[in-house]
Amino acid sequence: MMDRETFDEWYHEIVETAELCDKRYPVKGMNIWRPYGWKIMQNIDALIRKEMQQTGHDEVYFPLLIPESYFQKEADHIKGFSQEVYWVTHAGDNELEERLLLRPTSETALYSIFSLWIRSHADLPLKTFQIVNTFRYETKMTKAFIRVREIHFFEAHTCHADFEDAERQIQEDLNIAHSFLSSLSLPFLVSKRPDWDKFAGAAYSIGLDVLMPSLKTLQVGSIHQYKQNFSEPFNITYEGLDGAHHYCHQTTYGMSERVLGAVVGVHGDEKGIKLPASVAPIHVVIIPIIFKGWEEKIGKECRAVKDELQQLGIRCHVDEREKTPGNKFYDWELKGVPLRIEIGPKDMQQGTVTLVTRDGIKKQVGRNDLEVIEEELRQYDRRIHDEADAFLKEHLHICTTPVKKEGIIELPWCGKEVCGLALEEELDMKSLGTPIPEKECHEKCAVCKERATTWLRLARTY
Ligand code: ZN
Repeated sequence: MMDRETFDEWYHEIVETAELCDKRYPVKGMNIWRPYGWKIMQNIDALIRKEMQQTGHDEVYFPLLIPESYFQKEADHIKGFSQEVYWVTHAGDNELEERLLLRPTSETALYSIFSLWIRSHADLPLKTFQIVNTFRYETKMTKAFIRVREIHFFEAHTCHADFEDAERQIQEDLNIAHSFLSSLSLPFLVSKRPDWDKFAGAAYSIGLDVLMPSLKTLQVGSIHQYKQNFSEPFNITYEGLDGAHHYCHQTTYGMSERVLGAVVGVHGDEKGIKLPASVAPIHVVIIPIIFKGWEEKIGKECRAVKDELQQLGIRCHVDEREKTPGNKFYDWELKGVPLRIEIGPKDMQQGTVTLVTRDGIKKQVGRNDLEVIEEELRQYDRRIHDEADAFLKEHLHICTTPVKKEGIIELPWCGKEVCGLALEEELDMKSLGTPIPEKECHEKCAVCKERATTWLRLARTY
């Protein structure tokens, strides 16, 4: 794990030295995705698409521009986003009759059209998602992948006949989150956000948070129950079996490139990033250890090993650059490649290859046993998950009175806003919310000393 104090500085530099992004583009908060970073992001998207396909969501792609009249339909939603919106007012020299906005999120675009798509109960549930860019004028300091103004965004939107079916969707979303984030070796906490911090327009919101090495939490996903808050203003109704028209119940599930920021941060160390095999563009880098007279033989052997691994479905690269092996090790460790194979004269004589994992385990593998590499990748993903999980558990403090601690603090809470805000003030932290699944509490509220009904989680956040 990284040093807590210097983490933010390390993060600021590593996103560029590992060639994930280029921050020199002259529009603040809008970075360039470099090929290596974009490949990782696309692999992350592929994992999301797989989850969506398995749960019967259909992918859509809506226009970037939203008419102002659509955006104005839901009052809380407008209030939440109005200060972050980019407006398009002109086409050439001509002022537009109606202003258009760059989507900060897509509720208002999708729901205007959902009202045309949904006619009867047979059209429900409607389960859609899209992976698009969204735009938010962030006023806080920008940070690559974590706080940007053009966001690579995933959003699932569903419509249901009743509240119970929408609640079932939220359970399914939690299962998806578990499967998806586990495949990135990311342990996380699920919290029901307090009412004063729910999404603009939601009945309630659930946050998915990871703990970064700075001991600040990063929200990597959120799930929202809208009830009928949007279907009423957007007139999304269906004809029920009773012949009457009913408003739909709706949910959303959102994630973004922040997931990549979490992977970089949570699995980073002094050598660089550590990519989970599930999304690493290169699983195995093969480094020839050249000695005089062996150049051709070793080069050939490296390429043969690469071909065999590729046939096993392993993403492979032979580094034949004119650099010392030590310099090559340094480069690929920085970029987080899970496994390195070294092949030198001794390996060839013994019929082995030398395997070194990104987290520092070194072993010899028989030249004819390359299929063990798949299991090595799985074990590596599990180890980096377990290391991060131990870190999260170590810094999750369950207390009965507010004490200043680094990390996440859980305190008994009566549920009143005034007590929650008092704790935020006293600890100089933000409320993450109450644990999901719900956790019983038999203590007294850490502020008013009345009976506590639940626990409130607090942390410093990004
Ligand atoms: Zn209280």
